[in-house]
Amino acid sequence: MEQTELLWQYQQADMAADAFENEMKRNPTRIALKKNRDFLVDQQNAVKRMEQEVAEMVDRVEIIKMAVVRLEEQLAALTKRMESNPPADLKQAQDMARDAQKLLKDLTDYEGEMKRIQKDAADRERLEKDIRMKYTKVKSEYDKQKEAYEAEYEKQKEQLAQKRALAKEKSVGIAPELLEKYALIKKHCTPPVARLYSDQCGGCNMSLPQVTLRKFKNSQYIECENCGRLIIQ
Ligand SMILES: [Zn+2]
Repeated sequence: MEQTELLWQYQQADMAADAFENEMKRNPTRIALKKNRDFLVDQQNAVKRMEQEVAEMVDRVEIIKMAVVRLEEQLAALTKRMESNPPADLKQAQDMARDAQKLLKDLTDYEGEMKRIQKDAADRERLEKDIRMKYTKVKSEYDKQKEAYEAEYEKQKEQLAQKRALAKEKSVGIAPELLEKYALIKKHCTPPVARLYSDQCGGCNMSLPQVTLRKFKNSQYIECENCGRLIIQ
């Protein structure tokens, strides 16, 4: 058999294997599986983020608690001073009142912050619970899908291996440099080999000039100047 005819038959087997592999990638179960897996990873990250935020809140609460104790001590000391040493005049009384107000205001601010943190923490807890529930549901669905798909995938892998083996068989007898050329063209143009029909490239339909067509006299194949395919007759 002519080299070009062998190459043509090899291409058919090679293209069939490629098409099958692409079909495998487009498998709806595989796509659904990937979507669910991405969702699960997102949820895991969200929970991790929330746990981190809650840990930061706990740290902040500790700091506030210490600050509150300090303020209360200061307030007690101020009260004691006022009792044991009452202000002598209006100016002194005003100063003490201002000090007390400042301490009370700081206490109120901390109280407000505490409340906000508690609310935030409760929100996160609710959200986390919600996420965990959804996660469990999707995870069980995912596990089932995965099991079913893996069985299907094993079967398909076997079929693909058979198709690849068949293509390999068909490549026997083809000159290595021709196969190399084929592989090189395939990187940017597929299928890499096209038949000539009414003086046109069967791949890109470009009309070929007579000067190019004349090369068939000395060669089994020519190259399309437009798409780079190997053209055979
Ligand atoms: Zn072409």
